[in-house]
Amino acid sequence: MSDLKNKRVITACLCGSWPTRENNPAVPYTPEEIANDAYECWKAGAAIVHVHVREPDGTPSIRYELYEETIGRIRAHEDCDVCINITSSGRETGPDEERIEPIVQLLPELASFDAGTLNWQNRTIFENHPRFLEKLGLAMQQANVKPEIEIFDAGMVYNAIYYMKKGILRAPCHYQLVLGAAGGMTNTVENLVYLKSILPEGSTWAAAGIGAGHMPIMLAAIAMGGHLRVGLEDNVYYHYGVLAESNAQLVARAKRLLEEAGLEAASPDEARQIYGLTRKV
Ligand code: ZN
Repeated sequence: MSDLKNKRVITACLCGSWPTRENNPAVPYTPEEIANDAYECWKAGAAIVHVHVREPDGTPSIRYELYEETIGRIRAHEDCDVCINITSSGRETGPDEERIEPIVQLLPELASFDAGTLNWQNRTIFENHPRFLEKLGLAMQQANVKPEIEIFDAGMVYNAIYYMKKGILRAPCHYQLVLGAAGGMTNTVENLVYLKSILPEGSTWAAAGIGAGHMPIMLAAIAMGGHLRVGLEDNVYYHYGVLAESNAQLVARAKRLLEEAGLEAASPDEARQIYGLTRKV
């Protein structure tokens, strides 16, 4: 086993559900575009890609065939061993089974587990009913897919702890702290410090700031020993008023920042060791 002490995992969140080509023309929509971005991000230093899918016109989707084609295209790159994380929240609501199916059929290393419901960006309700979370957690255990517990607000950490006690989630858990989505916690360093302070001992964690919080949260996470998530899902800009050219450009910057701090971007296999993931392909 290599020395993992100085390794930090970079996850690339490629398109999410919300950013459009009007926001940034580089947002990938089709399975081919998303898979190409995944490959380019892996080459740039990402160990994990977080995958949503879109209909051809960019509408958020949870259609199984789109996940199947996208994941198939990523795995078709023989030299690419990137870890795959499938969202369970490609739509902010929807039939439980449709949200779970791509995870149990396509068997990514990780999948998102959003530990609560919230008003999302002042537009809609991001619904994660307790019934859905119980089904999702148990389905992931059975499929040996590690939950990435997405936290938008402090109460969601306590929900996750409840599900750990109930056996729906198994410790040690992995958390993605996402700050700056309206309806959740704002993207301040103080909020990040607080969230980290309430995570159960032994957890791994990464952080991401949406929009303007992208850089401050990334820099704070590096300083605090956390792992990183970057990509057009969270942030379509490179600098204030300057659009990012691609997901890979954002990954390359994160890797450079790690190196300037005397750290290194973890390889996919190192990420598997750090997060406790089972290699699937
Ligand atoms: Zn996502």
